[in-house]
Amino acid sequence: MRIQLLTHTPQPEKVVSQAARICTSTRSVENFYSEDLIRKVIGRGHLSVLEHVSFSFLVEGVSRALSHQLVRHRLASFSQQSQRYTTTGKNFTTPHSIQDNTKACFEFNRIMDDCWVVYENLKSLGIPDEDARYVLPNAAHTNLVVTMNARELRHFFSLRTCSHAQWEIREMATQMLVICKRKAPVLFENVGPGCLVNGVCPEGNACNFHSLGRISPDRHFRSESPGRLPGKIRSPG
Ligand SMILES: Cc1cc2nc3c(=O)[nH]c(=O)nc-3n(C[C@H](O)[C@H](O)[C@H](O)COP(=O)(O)OP(=O)(O)OC[C@H]3O[C@@H](n4cnc5c(N)ncnc54)[C@H](O)[C@@H]3O)c2cc1C
Repeated sequence: MRIQLLTHTPQPEKVVSQAARICTSTRSVENFYSEDLIRKVIGRGHLSVLEHVSFSFLVEGVSRALSHQLVRHRLASFSQQSQRYTTTGKNFTTPHSIQDNTKACFEFNRIMDDCWVVYENLKSLGIPDEDARYVLPNAAHTNLVVTMNARELRHFFSLRTCSHAQWEIREMATQMLVICKRKAPVLFENVGPGCLVNGVCPEGNACNFHSLGRISPDRHFRSESPGRLPGKIRSPG
């Protein structure tokens, strides 16, 4: 998977400061910037001011299983490579649980081969891409551009960096969070899975992080490259 920040609102924290300031001030906010005010509005849940800044990511080489999960986030904007108008090359994601199991890996690769052989055969029989694609698996790779505002990103990160989220979307969300923290550290301070941020898992006691105790999310996400996050999220230590 490759995650790249394409663009973001310039000076995102200044824009949020200005939006927050104008609510309670009659003075010019043109040069206003205050980290304290950002922390205050976030702490009080006045989160609409975060909607003035957005981040656009290029996401490449993720499975269609992941993109199904991603597009459930209704406040984000998506542009996804079409399987109707482009030919889908034989590129797919193999889950780590399958990679680590020789017999399962053999079965998986066999059916991947079959899927693409039938896909190509159907097309050579005159079936259009848009219909031939019905034989392609959830594992097939897709590319997309996704844009979210900072409010939605914080919500997305709370759900998708959690160990309850599947490993692939968790890896994607974690890489995005690392990038956001670098670009706007105050806006994305204390952002991450609920149990790390609040010490309480919104999903109950099944969360993998409980055994790790309370850990600073900034410490967890300080790495520039989070690397592979297998089925069980790696230890922040
Ligand atoms: C661990 C996990 C397991 C999941 N399992 C399943 C599953 O088994 N089956 C399944 O179908 N889905 C599943 N989902 C998807 C989940 O139900 C949500 O669709 C997805 O996480 C998007 O979350 P959201 O609706 O909060 O966020 P967004 O769509 O990004 O919306 C953000 C917020 O805006 C508000 N909002 C948006 N639209 C509306 C609206 N129409 N009305 C009122 N408020 C709105 C809500 O406050 C919402 O939280 C799972 C998600 C996770 C993280």
